[in-house]
Amino acid sequence: MSETTERNALLGVYTQPELVLARGEGARVWDEDGETYLDFTSGIAVNALGHGSPVVADAIRKALDTGLVHTSNLFRTRPGEALAELLVEHAFPGSVFFCNSGAEANEAAFKFARRWARETSGSARHEIVAFHGSFHGRLFGSLAATDRPHYQDPFRPLMPGVRFADVGDLGSVDEALASGAVAAVIIEPLQAEGGIRPVPSDFLQALRGRCDEAGALLVFDEVQVGLGRTGRLFAFEECGVVPDILTLAKPLAGGLPMGATIVSDAVAATIRPGDHATTFGGGPLVASVALAVLREIVGGDFLERVRARSRHLEGALARLAASHTSVREVRGRGLIQGVELEGQAGPIVRGARESGLLLVSAGPDVIRLLPPLNVTEEEIDEGVTILDRVLTA
Ligand SMILES: *Cc1c(COP(=O)(O)O)cnc(C)c1O
Repeated sequence: MSETTERNALLGVYTQPELVLARGEGARVWDEDGETYLDFTSGIAVNALGHGSPVVADAIRKALDTGLVHTSNLFRTRPGEALAELLVEHAFPGSVFFCNSGAEANEAAFKFARRWARETSGSARHEIVAFHGSFHGRLFGSLAATDRPHYQDPFRPLMPGVRFADVGDLGSVDEALASGAVAAVIIEPLQAEGGIRPVPSDFLQALRGRCDEAGALLVFDEVQVGLGRTGRLFAFEECGVVPDILTLAKPLAGGLPMGATIVSDAVAATIRPGDHATTFGGGPLVASVALAVLREIVGGDFLERVRARSRHLEGALARLAASHTSVREVRGRGLIQGVELEGQAGPIVRGARESGLLLVSAGPDVIRLLPPLNVTEEEIDEGVTILDRVLTA
């Protein structure tokens, strides 16, 4: 299928295929012509409970019954307070700032890190260390910490004071920290946009030590991999390292826009009224939905079942890799898996779509699989079978 030719009034920042989505249920979507697709993009890891989730729908309906969609942060409302409580209960002792996207969550993290650094060691500390292969968003601060020259170059100057180090290379971290001016180190425990690259646990552990020695905060960006995607509520649980700041967004409010920046008690102690704000952040409707989503993920055996499905997907992908020389490597954690190809990902993503499977790439040669967390084993088999056929063709 060709890329879109039909004119519309949307600004041309996206490359979209011709099809127009009209309906969804579970792991499946339908286009306007009634064609059905297995959706292994989940809105880029957003629709964790699938499309048409009764958990999400019921939470929206119940929230609407109060009549309060939005109040602004001039006033307290209960859903956001309850959500913050539940997040810190499961993450680490601290406080939560709510915003509306992943980039905003990281921008907030940078501001809170600078405020903390200014309070604790004077104004010189303001730098951010990020990693090659990272993606942290597209606003001026988060874009400065995103290792993509072609996203950055047309929009310079970006936020100054960002240094890049290499994952797995502690020497490069030491070099970046040697300025003595670093407020925070930000890393994705699994680099998602950068090609589905899990960061080794021992490197994250070493990073924790280096940050403590240097007096810098450690920030984990779990915008894409947090909240159950890896089979744990937070990806950091697996590496035995607790960050000072954790950023979340994509799946948080079941498809409604919401981000969160969780800061440790030590950081929270340096934040004052007026340091940061957002009009929409943590409103009663989105917070009610996020609370229902989070309760679903931490409740019962939900995460155990995610891990069982993950093993099924990993098994199916291992067999796929063994039978195609065009597959270089399969890697990931839980229900975020990448298939690195010898060639370009684009034609495979297109071929899969034409065969009824929606995928998204992660870089030029990696196919990313992001099924909903409640995908069935039959749907996993169906999706991998389609991918197998497309790779053969
Ligand atoms: C998507 C993503 C972001 C940016 O989130 P937006 O909601 O698009 O601003 C930041 N960090 C990571 C790891 C992401 O995957």
